Amino acid sequence: MADQDDPQGQSRPTEPSDPKPALPSGRCHWCGYSLKGLADRGNCPECGRSFTPDSANQLQPWPSALMICLRLGWPIAGLMLTATFLASSWGNDLRMLGTIIGYTMIVSVTINSYFQIRSMLRRSLPEQIRTQGPVAIWRKIGTTVCVIILLVFVGGPFVFGVGCLVLLSSMGRF
Ligand SMILES: [Zn+2]
Repeated sequence: MADQDDPQGQSRPTEPSDPKPALPSGRCHWCGYSLKGLADRGNCPECGRSFTPDSANQLQPWPSALMICLRLGWPIAGLMLTATFLASSWGNDLRMLGTIIGYTMIVSVTINSYFQIRSMLRRSLPEQIRTQGPVAIWRKIGTTVCVIILLVFVGGPFVFGVGCLVLLSSMGRF
């Protein structure tokens, strides 16, 4: 720091020779307080946490409804398409293939939703709102649902498959 010592540290009225550039926009990444017009680094006047130009520009506006639909919707669209194919009178070979694709899509919906929502929250919500209160509760619920779906659709068949193998090999010994 090239600044001279300032023991009081009190905010002096606007100094024309202040070398620090002002932020044209930006918010505190912790509490969401607008930092527009403040020096490009310092402490948030609202929560006292330090900010830099990078951290101030971290928070982006919430994505548009169309963007959210696209980000969350592609595996759901695939799943519905597969269900339509399965409902139609296809041969057994394709039915089997359709079931496998449908199964993959359910797992994709889960994993995709988890990471898309996670990245949207990270991009657009201040940390304080993300990690406390109702958003934190909903995140926990969402994570739990994702884990349950993955356990059922990935863990379940895996355990079933291993169980079958064990059973078959033990029967083979008799
Ligand atoms: Zn703040």
